[in-house]
Amino acid sequence: MSTGHLTIDLSAIADNWRALDAKTNVETAAVVKANGYGMGAGRVARTLADAGARRFFVAVAEEGAAVREAVGPGPMIAVLSGHMDGDTDLIRDNSLTPMLNSVDQVLRHVESLPRQSFGIQLDTGMNRLGLEPEEWAALRDVALKQKPALLMSHLACADEPDHFMNQRQLTAFREMTDGLDVPRSLAATGGLLLGADYHFDVTRPGIGLYGGRPYEDAKTVVRLDLPVAQIRDVAPGESVGYGNTWTAQRPSRIATLAAGYADGLFRALSPGIKLFDGADAYPIAGRISMDLITVDITEMDPDRKPEIMTLMNNLQGVDALADVAGTIGYELLTQLSQRYKRSYIG
Ligand SMILES: *Cc1c(COP(=O)(O)O)cnc(C)c1O
Repeated sequence: MSTGHLTIDLSAIADNWRALDAKTNVETAAVVKANGYGMGAGRVARTLADAGARRFFVAVAEEGAAVREAVGPGPMIAVLSGHMDGDTDLIRDNSLTPMLNSVDQVLRHVESLPRQSFGIQLDTGMNRLGLEPEEWAALRDVALKQKPALLMSHLACADEPDHFMNQRQLTAFREMTDGLDVPRSLAATGGLLLGADYHFDVTRPGIGLYGGRPYEDAKTVVRLDLPVAQIRDVAPGESVGYGNTWTAQRPSRIATLAAGYADGLFRALSPGIKLFDGADAYPIAGRISMDLITVDITEMDPDRKPEIMTLMNNLQGVDALADVAGTIGYELLTQLSQRYKRSYIG
């Protein structure tokens, strides 16, 4: 084994989906954008379709085509970026449901694919995607005649339950959609956890399925094992890695692992994270380089020569790593290397 090895637990993803679904009385969709948060959109979508998911959300039409191939003709596949210029063939050929974000997109859609399912994304304050309240007011009656499949908006601060923005956006969403006979969706993982006021007809969890915050009770989905390329002895006073940032204070043993920041293991993860040999943890020595990580295994039984060490597991999950790197689990998961061998369990 010369590259890292990602083991993705599909049954944990299905369990996380079921557990989130059980928190509401409404339909639970699944967000599989960015290749299923790095886990593999096709495998994840097929697993969740088997578990009962009937709607999937992707960021762009190309991702929708891949998910359609994986799940077959039944489920709705919603495209969050809407109907962008050049997407018409992909949307038609894969029966995608664009979430239309602007007046231009609405016109493009009804002119090019007048009978094709669509939804409407409304801006309730995040100012990223969606129709403004005034645009919606002007377009609403015409749009409703075309029978949209979903009205949706997105919360900016749902991972902070006490943030004033949640209530403000909820009120705005209600003002724009109350009394209309169209299914509604406001909540991603964070919104789902805010409670029933935020659930409407469909929730759209993403990160919670993959084991990340703010769904603290999620089952661990990812394990990352890295191959040991070399083990060496280092004398007191010798240093390890770029910039001489680590110097041996005692006779030491260093394991060099074959993965680095080019594999999504951000340089900011050094120092601070641990590598595991079974349940035993060992600190990084020096800086993470492009393709290599050096680990201080001085405390390990000197007769042991591990062939792999584990970077992500239930003891050091995606959020623990993200905290060290000063980022969020979403970024860490979606940067996991294409170089890793991937295998699926469950
Ligand atoms: C990414 C995204 C989601 C899923 O968000 P999570 O925080 O991962 O649950 C839902 N809706 C929209 C519009 C998104 O962009």
